[in-house]
Amino acid sequence: MESPFYILIVLIVIVYLLRLPFRSFYSAKKKGVKGEREVARLLRKLSKKQYIVLNDIYIKANNRSTQIDHIVISTHGIFVIETKNYDGWIHGHEKSQYWTQTFYQKKVQFRNPIKQNWAHVFILKSVLSSFGYMIYHPIIVFAGEAELKNISSNIPVIYINRLLKTIKGINSECLSIAQVEGIAEYLNEINITDSKREKAHNKFVRENIKQRNENIKALVCPNCDGRLLLRNGKYGGFYGCSNYPRCKYSKPA
Ligand SMILES: [Zn+2]
Repeated sequence: MESPFYILIVLIVIVYLLRLPFRSFYSAKKKGVKGEREVARLLRKLSKKQYIVLNDIYIKANNRSTQIDHIVISTHGIFVIETKNYDGWIHGHEKSQYWTQTFYQKKVQFRNPIKQNWAHVFILKSVLSSFGYMIYHPIIVFAGEAELKNISSNIPVIYINRLLKTIKGINSECLSIAQVEGIAEYLNEINITDSKREKAHNKFVRENIKQRNENIKALVCPNCDGRLLLRNGKYGGFYGCSNYPRCKYSKPA
């Protein structure tokens, strides 16, 4: 006789084996945040006299908004760092649209991080154009267990343990200390922080409610801009939308 306990163990093993291949995909976003935190922690080891580190910068420019994982500003130029936290084998070419992650014989495509990072550099260039000439150093960092295979690239695509060496390895000078501080201050100023994003959202909601109430007062349907008409129902008068039955909005008279 097999005990229920034995069957339970077998079931647990099966469930465990089944979830393994999905492990790297189901929490991609969470993993991304973890990778960024790891890189931020590492960047804190840079000399504060020589490098200013900004993490999770959100910039709006030319009608586009973009989130940049890390920006390191120094007299040697501006390091623009894109962090990826992946497992498995990573294949990719500088010019291709997508790269692939191979994990337990599963292939997943993701946007070429080099192109993604060039877009970040482009937006920074336009935002910082008034600060004059400077050199940008894009870097792609892989946190996590990923193995980089056949990556062809002119810009550094590196493991996290090479990051500080890569940054410190660049010694050409292009900015004064005053410029470095000015740029950091300016980027902090235009950075749209979480609380700023939330404020903008709340303002939008408030204005939306205000607009709805004004419409109703003017007998305009707040859902479809139809007219609100006084009608007689079983239980007395009420306002209904002129687009009934397509629009079901109604309010007591
Ligand atoms: Zn309506």
